[in-house]
Amino acid sequence: MAIATINPATGETLKTFEPLDEHQVEERLVLAAAEFERYRTSDFKQRAEWMLSAAALLEAEQEHVARLMTIEMGKTVASARAEVAKCVGGMRFYAERAEEFLADEPSDPTAVGARRAYVRYQPLGPVLAVMPWNFPCWQVIRFAAPALMAGDVGLLKHASNVPQVALYLGELFARAGFPGGCFQTLLIGSDAVERVLRDHRVVAATLTGSEGAGRSVASIAGGEVKKTVLELGGSDPYVVMPSADLERAVETGVAARVQNNGQSCIAAKRFIVHAAVYEDFTERFVSRMQSLRLGDPMDEATDVGPLATQQGRDDLEKLVADAVGRGARVLCGGVTPSRTGWFFEPTVITDVTPEMRMFGEEVFGPVAQLYRVADIDEAMALANATMFGLGANAWTSDPEEGERFADELEAGLVFVNGMVTSYPQLPFGGVKHSGYGRELGANGIREFCHIKTVWIG
Ligand code: NAP
Repeated sequence: MAIATINPATGETLKTFEPLDEHQVEERLVLAAAEFERYRTSDFKQRAEWMLSAAALLEAEQEHVARLMTIEMGKTVASARAEVAKCVGGMRFYAERAEEFLADEPSDPTAVGARRAYVRYQPLGPVLAVMPWNFPCWQVIRFAAPALMAGDVGLLKHASNVPQVALYLGELFARAGFPGGCFQTLLIGSDAVERVLRDHRVVAATLTGSEGAGRSVASIAGGEVKKTVLELGGSDPYVVMPSADLERAVETGVAARVQNNGQSCIAAKRFIVHAAVYEDFTERFVSRMQSLRLGDPMDEATDVGPLATQQGRDDLEKLVADAVGRGARVLCGGVTPSRTGWFFEPTVITDVTPEMRMFGEEVFGPVAQLYRVADIDEAMALANATMFGLGANAWTSDPEEGERFADELEAGLVFVNGMVTSYPQLPFGGVKHSGYGRELGANGIREFCHIKTVWIG
């Protein structure tokens, strides 16, 4: 994919970029390795000061960054502002908590015949971050803030359609005071990732993106015995039981499906509704989806903007056509509006069966699948009938049912009576083909640390 800013609302190419050549990549790798040796000895107080000034800079530049994201990948400008605010919160969170998360952990010395025994967390080195376009700031910050606070240094290979956000982030930390080699953007295509990942100076990688990209990066890193964290796709279930607060379940369900124009890994994608409330839920849900305003993402009144890329819109059209061709019914939407830009109508589709592609694949756009189930066992089986296991939502006011969902849903994140969301305070990540490892919380900052056991006799 060419490295370029192409406005998804118009299809217009606004700016193109030359990828870094071999020599330029080499320069950045040399700098990262040298910087790590210096930076790893900095203390938490100093890192926190720099992180807080980076947060303040980003906060002051919120409008600029939000508009950049909207222009490059089409999210509504209101949601882009919210994304920037979330990043600022995440940076402050790690500035304040990193030292506590990475403090030595004493162990009982008598049990191991020592005078003292403890676990110490130490930084790993330069980490390659391969990131997607869908939350162009947040995906990067949720890696960069904990990694920098831990004493690691970062190399960002961002998605090729968000180069201006990538360049902005590559400068943000240095502008805030971090030494220049602590966080660098590599403007490279995905074909250049292998060379960087195999380089001896890069010690680990984190990838957020599709399953295919994850498999490729993990297998290369595996060959080099380098650690990886993978945050991949999802096909989150959204189960609604008879005791649910239906109005909240409908309202939250619509937001959960169309957030980020339907392009979120943790968007609710499969709505699994108990027969007792199915008709009622469907009527309200379809009516809400129909009332959403599709349009220019820069317009404050727009609810749903375009898909980020033409390829993404084409893929979505094919998934819907495949399901309809095999007997699925469209309850609303289902069409590509006749306007420039990569728009797709908010859509609700039912009678989806296992031989249809969308039953098993991730639907990355504003298309909700509705399933009717007879009881909680059928709901659970259908919710788990996927290779993905990122998030899962369940709506019930019965505490026992809530416990069962928490226990049996095969997902890295289970939200009962709420929308799956990432919070700096809570670990985030998936199971099954949604990936492994965790970001955020205390777990997230420890992923790119050595866990060193110290025994003193
Ligand atoms: P993508 O095509 O996999 O791209 C993600 C990143 O990987 C981009 O930087 C891309 O570079 C790079 N890449 C692609 N193929 C690669 C390869 N073979 N080797 C190395 N790097 C490669 O994914 P996307 O379409 O941008 O993002 C959407 C996907 O990300 C969805 O599946 C979504 O669910 C998932 N996602 C997951 C999470 C999570 O936390 N679990 C969060 C957000 C998104 P180029 O742009 O240069 O191709």
